[in-house]
Amino acid sequence: MSATMVLSRSVHEAISLRLAGVDQRYTHLRRILVETLAAAGRPLTIPEILSSAPELPQSSAYRNMTALIDVGVVRRVAGADDHGRFELAEELSGHHHHFVCARCGKVADVHPSPKLERALDEAARAVAEEQGYEVTEHQLDLVGLCPVCRAVEERGKHRPWVSASARRRKRSHDPGAERAPLQQHVEITRRHRRDDGEALLAPPPPVVEEP
Ligand SMILES: [Zn+2]
Ligand SMILES: [Zn+2]
Repeated sequence: MSATMVLSRSVHEAISLRLAGVDQRYTHLRRILVETLAAAGRPLTIPEILSSAPELPQSSAYRNMTALIDVGVVRRVAGADDHGRFELAEELSGHHHHFVCARCGKVADVHPSPKLERALDEAARAVAEEQGYEVTEHQLDLVGLCPVCRAVEERGKHRPWVSASARRRKRSHDPGAERAPLQQHVEITRRHRRDDGEALLAPPPPVVEEP
């Protein structure tokens, strides 16, 4: 959702029941996390969450986020950089897509148009049938440049096709540094889908410089 949301009481009750199902409580801090994500209207990194909800102790932010992910209230969003971003599950926020900036890594929500949804459904069904799959939902990220990075690009200061993570890889002499942004993004998405639980929330490992 690109519009910010105010969650109704029944949504909070549903979240509370989900947590109760695994012997967890919908604590004040977890409610602040949920409300911060709802108000933002786009996926947020933990530092962004902490700066818009200063009452949230940094020490427990990751742990509480994990609890919300475990019961399907929050999901992690793959971006074009190494930052974990979080948003409310589509069940709560509604179906939407993402625009991922390949240069600064910012992720924005995109409202799907009926035209886009119809075209996607048809194309997905056709390709899935060929391979014996049944499609029940889809995720689509549009990767490119955000308005800020486009302006910078127009002034000719940066190369848009080199993402932040690719620039870091290049510095560490990784041969993967020259890959096209789309391929990189697909790989990042796969990596995130493979992971689950706590591993998702661990800070990214430090880049190891080759000797
Ligand atoms: Zn950008
Ligand atoms: Zn869609």
